[in-house]
Formats: sequence, structure tokens, C-alpha cells
Amino acid sequence: MNHFNLEGRVAIVTGGNGGIGLGMATGMAEAGATLVLAGRNAEKGAAAVSSLEAIGAKASFFTLDVTDEAACHALIEDTASRHGRLDVLINNAGSNIRKEPEDYTLEEFRFVLDTNLTSAFCCSQAAYPAMKQSGGGKIINIGSMFSLFGASFSTAYAASKGGIVQMTKAMACAWAKDNIQVNSVLPGWIDTELTKGARKDVEGLHERIEARTPAARWGRPDEFAGIAVFLAGTGSDFVTGTSIAIDGGFSAQG
Ligand code: NDP
Repeated sequence: MNHFNLEGRVAIVTGGNGGIGLGMATGMAEAGATLVLAGRNAEKGAAAVSSLEAIGAKASFFTLDVTDEAACHALIEDTASRHGRLDVLINNAGSNIRKEPEDYTLEEFRFVLDTNLTSAFCCSQAAYPAMKQSGGGKIINIGSMFSLFGASFSTAYAASKGGIVQMTKAMACAWAKDNIQVNSVLPGWIDTELTKGARKDVEGLHERIEARTPAARWGRPDEFAGIAVFLAGTGSDFVTGTSIAIDGGFSAQG
């Protein structure tokens, strides 16, 4: 048996139209999966679909805002009805507002929580019946180094990403009986649109990350292909409730 073969599997990646999400989608597409990418920006979505089709994969884009519960349900229902099954859900869509805690409005705090945490709850809850019907499934939630650490500018983001780790454990416990494995991936510092903003806002961040990361560099989105294939395939059937750092050693550094 090839534990890294995803032929016949149907996978959704929220925020799969760019960055880490597209890195994971590309890995799964190369392993034979059919991909449904979801996000707000349809232009980026079309480009991402073309890049997957160029490697011979079946792929489509679903436009949604993950903060809309009804849209999360529509994404899952549309995928399950078009493809007849749902095997993998990657809750990757994420956003950040960087401020000192005293400066957030409640609306801003809720926006980050809704985008990063509540959306993963809504999509997972919507996916559960379809995965159960397929005989099992894989849910992969994207956390962060801020699932483990804090920073003065990360109150809302760290709250959301810490929540991802604990929600992962709770769902893993609940759905093991249905052969659904729920895990999270904790990226270190990766060069994407999201961190372009951070590097602009936080002086000296780029150099500090290089200095603290044992690998002495920022990561790349394509370096998430392997972990996605592992967590989406049969090789991880006894792996559930855990969080795996993909961080060049950042979280291991004392
Ligand atoms: P990107 O900005 O490239 O990707 C974020 C994706 O999320 C985009 O594709 C965006 O799609 C989508 N998205 C954001 N808000 C919404 C929304 N409301 N509804 C639908 N889609 C949405 O950044 P990354 O690839 O870096 O981020 C991916 C994930 O990885 C995030 O969860 C992030 O927190 C996490 N992460 C990233 C790290 C890094 O160093 N880059 C480190 C740790 C964690 P669209 O533009 O279409 O809205």
C-alpha cells in the first residue's frame, strides 16, 4: 500500500488560493487528490486552479467568506454533492490585525477570532456528516507559532491560534469513533502575503526570525506539501489530536 497516494480523495482547502494553502493543495494534487479551493478572491482562485490543472489535477474554486456560517455549509454541501464524497478538509484561511491589546476594538478582536477559529469550527461541523458517510476523513487545522507563544501585537491572533490547538484535540476525541482524524499544523515564519504585512509593520522582524530559527531562514509555502499529504493519507490513520510544527526548528530553540 502506498500511504502517500491520494487518488480518489476529495479535499477542500480554505484559503487555498495562495500562500501556505496553495502549497498544501499542490502537494495533495501531485499525490492524486481532487481539490476544491475556497476563498474570497476569485481572481487568485482562478490562477491557483490553473496552476493545479497544469500538473494534471482536477481542481475548482468556490468563492466564500469563511466568517459567514451559511457559506461554510454551502462549500461543504456543494463539494459533497458535486464529487459524491469529502475526505479532507484543511481549515487554513486566516488573517491578522496587529495591535497592542489596549488598542483593539471589540469588532477587530472578533474579526480575527471569526476568521481564524470560528470558521474552522463551522467548516468542520458542516463536514462531519459527509466524512462520516465516506467512512472517515481528515481535518487539518492551521495554527501558528502563536498557538504556543505570545507577542505584544498578537492578542487576537494568539487567542485564535491557541484555540485551534485545543479545538483540534477536542474534535479528535469526539470523532475518532467515526474514523475522522483531526490534527493541526503549526507553521513557523513563512514568506507569504500575510507576513509581508508583518515585516512592514514590525521593525526588525525579518532579521530576528532569521537569527532565532535554527534553519536560519524563512520557510516557503511549498514546504507544506509533504505534511499535507501525510496528514491527508492513510499514513496518519493513528495520528489524531496532535499539533505538528513546520518551523525550521523555531519552536525547539531555547
Ligand atoms: P495568505 O495571506 O497568503 O493566505 C491567507 C488565505 O486565507 C488567503 O488565501 C485568503 O484568501 C484566505 N482568507 C483570509 N480571510 C478569509 C475569509 N474571511 N474568507 C475566506 N478566505 C479568507 O497567508 P498565509 O498563507 O501565510 O496564511 C495561511 C494560514 O497560515 C493562515 O491561517 C495563517 O494564520 C497561517 N500561518 C501563517 C504563517 C506565516 O508565517 N505565513 C505562520 C503561522 C500561521 P482571499 O485572499 O481570497 O480572501
